[in-house]
Amino acid sequence: MGQERILLEMDSLSKNEEFARVVAAVFMSRLNPTLEEVDDVKTAVSEAVTNAVIHGYGGGEGTISMEIGADEEERKLYIVVQDEGRGIADVKKAMEPMFTTDPSGERSGMGFSFMEAFMDRLEVESAPGKGTCVRMEKYIGR
Ligand code: ATP
Ligand code: MG
Repeated sequence: MGQERILLEMDSLSKNEEFARVVAAVFMSRLNPTLEEVDDVKTAVSEAVTNAVIHGYGGGEGTISMEIGADEEERKLYIVVQDEGRGIADVKKAMEPMFTTDPSGERSGMGFSFMEAFMDRLEVESAPGKGTCVRMEKYIGR
């Protein structure tokens, strides 16, 4: 069977977060995940897409891409969420628990921490003005 993947491009709209989550859940079903594994991935996707919409594009226009792939032999799922928004100056700091640049007090700064906790691997590449690329991996059922 080997490797397979799906590529999605969507407008930066918060309603597309649900769509991205559902696509990830349906795609990963071919790996026969547990309900918990599906929930973990849905949460991680939701956090990554929400970040792109809110922080990357600041609620304005933009395009978010999501790639989902699986290696059926390794039983490994990967997801890449990418935006071409404002980017992050200090990625290490941004990934610290409870770090947020949101001034409203509504955000808790836990998005990256959730992605880290629910996935087996998290890599963030970003630069100011160049956008952000979040790559996550998770082993399913092993
Ligand atoms: P929460 O996710 O709990 O609602 P949050 O979004 O602020 O709060 P994280 O998701 O951990 O917390 O992100 C931490 C910080 O990293 C954000 O406040 C923001 O400054 C920056 N950030 C995250 N994703 C992006 C992105 N795609 N583009 C630009 N900045 C980002
Ligand atoms: Mg967040």
